[in-house]
Amino acid sequence: MDTVSVLETLKARGVRKTRTRTAILTIFLSLQKPLSAFDVKYELEKIGLIVNKTTVYRELSFLLKENLLIEVKLRLDITLYESAFLNHHHHLVCENCGSISDIICTELKSPLKTLERRILVQGFEINKHDLEFYGKCGACK
Ligand SMILES: [Zn+2]
Ligand SMILES: [Zn+2]
Ligand SMILES: [Zn+2]
Repeated sequence: MDTVSVLETLKARGVRKTRTRTAILTIFLSLQKPLSAFDVKYELEKIGLIVNKTTVYRELSFLLKENLLIEVKLRLDITLYESAFLNHHHHLVCENCGSISDIICTELKSPLKTLERRILVQGFEINKHDLEFYGKCGACK
């Protein structure tokens, strides 16, 4: 989903469009990786929007509640968020610098379907699955 469609979604749901809100959604869509509240604050500053930490947190929890962002629970010490409109993907977690990036695994589509069918047969209802790869990123190697 592109920024325009996401902003139309806001309008359709009757969610007020503020400058900060629009900027945050745009940041998440363009960077396509999980971001912390601190990262979001930093990205906003880069485009000349100076907002305090409380505003960032309030905005993130609002967008979470509106299902425009999702929480990514990869690190215990920090809450990360990402756009709810990204295509299904998994994460690469660097154990050295803590950086997290997205990886699309089309190769897994068919084996996962088979596995999910087997799980369903056991009577387990699946809501979602997560898959993370831990190691060292290119910059830390
Ligand atoms: Zn998957
Ligand atoms: Zn790293
Ligand atoms: Zn992601």
